[in-house]
Amino acid sequence: MEPTSSPDSRRRFLRQAGLSAALAAVAGPAVALPFTETTSPMQYDDQKKLGFAIVGLGKFAQEQMMPAFKDCKHARITALVSGSPDKAKKLAAEYGVEAKSIYSYDNFDSIKDNPAVDVVYIVLPVGLHAEYTVRAAKAGKHVLTEKPMANTPEDCQKMIDACKKANVKLMVAYRAQYEPFNLDAIARIRKGELGKVMQITADHGRIVDPTGDKADTWRIQKKLAGGGSLMDLGIYSLNATRYLTGEEPVEVTALEMSDKADPRFKEVEDRIHFTLRFPSGILATCTSSYSTEGVKRYRVFGDKAWLDLDPATDYYKHNMTIGDKDGERKISLKEGNQFAAELDHMAECVLQNKTPKTPGEEGLKDIRLIMAIYEAARTGKKVKV
Ligand code: NAD
Repeated sequence: MEPTSSPDSRRRFLRQAGLSAALAAVAGPAVALPFTETTSPMQYDDQKKLGFAIVGLGKFAQEQMMPAFKDCKHARITALVSGSPDKAKKLAAEYGVEAKSIYSYDNFDSIKDNPAVDVVYIVLPVGLHAEYTVRAAKAGKHVLTEKPMANTPEDCQKMIDACKKANVKLMVAYRAQYEPFNLDAIARIRKGELGKVMQITADHGRIVDPTGDKADTWRIQKKLAGGGSLMDLGIYSLNATRYLTGEEPVEVTALEMSDKADPRFKEVEDRIHFTLRFPSGILATCTSSYSTEGVKRYRVFGDKAWLDLDPATDYYKHNMTIGDKDGERKISLKEGNQFAAELDHMAECVLQNKTPKTPGEEGLKDIRLIMAIYEAARTGKKVKV
């Protein structure tokens, strides 16, 4: 299916995203920046669209990601992988995917013979990301996988190794790192607009309800979800503290509270609060919850000003405020399609043979930190990382 948005609006958005990304790469004086843009002057076919196979046609794939392809410059859907043939057939008709490019989970490996597929995008429950990444790499396809990367650091490493061995790209779908408000927040921090950053608070939560939302049934199963609210939602707080500071935490503490009489929390945790200490002395306090109403926000406190993003990691709604001794001001920015920007980044990395901004190693770092947070909560002790 060809994009329906006008070339002008696409160009405008990409120009805007590129400008914010360039700003994001302006390093501050004190910290090294692990998060840099990979835009390169290298020549490539500016008109080329790579073929993406969508693995797992669930809620997020159908409601957010598949519709976003219409705004992509370099990505289009060319194959579907599903356990439900009727659903796949219906979506194939909607997105113009050929019948021969519909796969089941059993015959997925034969995707290696499909030249229309360049990238496999894995939108399955977390516990299946590693298996499908390894199978996609063996089929010689580049891999984009949803967050969190996998259940364990060992699985993340297996995914990285498999992609390296097959000489294919591996990217983790950290959409917030492709989203204009978050990129703008990073740029302002790097330019020193807040002064010296001292602390961050970040909160992510929503009510998990497997009786109401089918997508929540696997989220309360340890084998499929890897963990509870921390894996699913707290990861947004954690990842944000890392891209906002440009530093890696050195120490974590944590507290967990889960009502074990609640059937939702038999296998996975409900609430977890964690604190991170960064090398420059920045402290971050984060909360993650499966039993409180929706929140997705952070606030960065400097010695000159603070920056608030609430919501910070929504799909289409962001709200930035900056405050200092003279008062508060709202920052007006245009919303962008972060999903399309993320998909186009993956495609551009393949087309230009560049390393993605959020490679497998980035996903592994978060999963290692998540394991340290779980350990701190379990032992009640500080954990050095
Ligand atoms: P979902 O349950 O709606 O979709 C999962 C899909 O996997 C379904 O189509 C299901 O049929 C399929 N599936 C295959 N094997 C399965 C199995 N053994 N058990 C259960 N389902 C199986 O879930 P979702 O909310 O769409 O999440 C899918 C992925 O997307 C997860 O990795 C999740 O973390 C990620 N996600 C990311 C964001 C984001 O903002 N980046 C938002 C939501 C979900």
